[in-house]
Amino acid sequence: MTATTGRTRPLPIILTEVEAVRVERLSPSFVRVELAGPELAEFGVQGELYDQRIKLIFPGPRGALPNLAGEESWYAAWLNLPDAERGHLRTYTVREVRGAGRDARVVVDFVLHGDSGPGSCWATRARAGDRLLLIGPRRGERFGGIEFAPGGLREVLLVADETAVPAACGILAALDADFGGAAFLEVPESGDVLDVPVPAKINVVWLPRDGAPHGRRQVAAVRRHLELDPTDDLIDDRQVSPDLWETPTYSSSGEPIEPMSGPGTGAGARDGLYAWIAGESKVVTTLRRCLVEEAGLDRRQVAFMGYWRHGVAMRG
Ligand SMILES: Cc1cc2nc3c(=O)[nH]c(=O)nc-3n(C[C@H](O)[C@H](O)[C@H](O)COP(=O)(O)OP(=O)(O)OC[C@H]3O[C@@H](n4cnc5c(N)ncnc54)[C@H](O)[C@@H]3O)c2cc1C
Repeated sequence: MTATTGRTRPLPIILTEVEAVRVERLSPSFVRVELAGPELAEFGVQGELYDQRIKLIFPGPRGALPNLAGEESWYAAWLNLPDAERGHLRTYTVREVRGAGRDARVVVDFVLHGDSGPGSCWATRARAGDRLLLIGPRRGERFGGIEFAPGGLREVLLVADETAVPAACGILAALDADFGGAAFLEVPESGDVLDVPVPAKINVVWLPRDGAPHGRRQVAAVRRHLELDPTDDLIDDRQVSPDLWETPTYSSSGEPIEPMSGPGTGAGARDGLYAWIAGESKVVTTLRRCLVEEAGLDRRQVAFMGYWRHGVAMRG
């Protein structure tokens, strides 16, 4: 564990206990929680938050949060704790920041998927006064965790399931009126369609599953949008990359990424299109095939992010 005694400068990240000060049931599958704490006065990034991710630690079986105060190597310190004291680490998106100074509140939209995971379990029962640990960006310091990076491209394709809807909505809220394109947002049921402001030139299509299998409506809609052969088939389970994370600067497969001299290359490439795809790993792996192998999009015009995998608890 890192020795921290005597530290005079604050950590370059925000690592702080926060309290739920407002809990709002947005729809059957979403609950919005405003998290507050004095250290959030320093929370923020330079520029837009877009899909900024943060880490949350939920209390463990005894109801207590781990003590990581002042730990610069917080992850290693957290891993070293006994299981019973560690709590549960999960990744979420900053939907927005409300207020300022000591009144700043980080808003997180949680998907409720029953009691099958500590994150969903906590969110289902969340009440004002409940506490979590939050790890996020400190204003003026490098943190990372924003993947939406269209560069000079002004046509976007955003594809998200419910876990990535908060990120997609954050992106849509931040885009200026120059941006055009489409967003396909899949949610569990019709009642989960949210009323969010969107740029005039972006066509936002909500795709409630209402009992349909996860991802099929999305795959069909994206294929139609890209004028590919119509099908809603998903790839075989054996072909899924459970940790799929590919952006113009990073590939979880370790594949090298060549620098791009200009947008779009090669036959079939859709010049000017930037695609941001996030959600369940099998669906995202399927969409990767559609976009890269069939539609010919340059790997450097796309970001594919497996946010979770059916049947697999997040590590941490
Ligand atoms: C960058 C990033 C940003 C994210 N942002 C958000 C966000 O803003 N809001 C949000 O709700 N989630 C978000 N997620 C997804 C979230 O981290 C996962 O859904 C996570 O598994 C939830 O933790 P848990 O403790 O509820 O379930 P876990 O303990 O991780 O999993 C337990 C079981 O539940 C299943 N499961 C997990 N998520 C779902 C789901 N949505 N529907 C059905 N079954 C599920 C798992 O497959 C597993 O079988 C984000 C993930 C990433 C990587």
